[in-house]
Amino acid sequence: MASDISANPEQKPTAKAKRTGKRSPSKAIKQRSLAIYSLLSSLYPDATCSLNYQTPVQLLVATILSAQCTDERVNKVTPTLFERFPDAVALAGCDRSELESLIRSTGFFRNKAKNIQAACQMIVTDFEGEVPQEMEQLLKLPGVARKTANVVSAHAYGNIQGVTVDTHVKRLSNRWKLTKSDKPLQIERDLMALIPQPEWENFSIRTIYHGRAVCKARKPLCEICELAHLCPSATKYLN
Ligand code: SF4
Repeated sequence: MASDISANPEQKPTAKAKRTGKRSPSKAIKQRSLAIYSLLSSLYPDATCSLNYQTPVQLLVATILSAQCTDERVNKVTPTLFERFPDAVALAGCDRSELESLIRSTGFFRNKAKNIQAACQMIVTDFEGEVPQEMEQLLKLPGVARKTANVVSAHAYGNIQGVTVDTHVKRLSNRWKLTKSDKPLQIERDLMALIPQPEWENFSIRTIYHGRAVCKARKPLCEICELAHLCPSATKYLN
């Protein structure tokens, strides 16, 4: 992961930052981010991963399928897929064209099928048929970047290693001005500095819920948003 945090308007240099060239979040932005998270927690207390799965392998596959696709669509495809190919061994040895036809409606199906099969082959040969738990090993799997690795690690194993940055987290964290970056790695690093580690994945999930329900991409519903008093972008969309 990139090690530098780029300048944020609310991030003021500390003495250490002046020496090292790195910046830490100011007290003000930390307090605001915690207030946002607290409110998200009360708005979406039961928020959880919306992908359906039974095993870590199935969660990995469902998360790969969710790229550029809704979780709802993925959940329509996976019952048949997992009935036909329930585990890493079955997926590693499956007929690729059959796999492609089963996941076609999720989009980018050829590339997804290729990655799913290659990841399962590696899981079988290098990890004794089990999805690895550590970030470094997860990132070795074909088609797995930090977003997928964070989801699988957190929900399959309860191992919180980072903040999942999807399109909603990217959009909302910028609207909240918790980051000024459009790069997922930098956004993740900025959010990790603001939110307590045990809550990283809960923050992502609740932010995703708010992005779907209220802070929509094209027309955010600021007039009914309960976070408006904490959101520097509210006035932009209310005018
Ligand atoms: S006030 Fe508007 S921009 Fe800010 S979080 Fe709410 S919906 Fe999104």
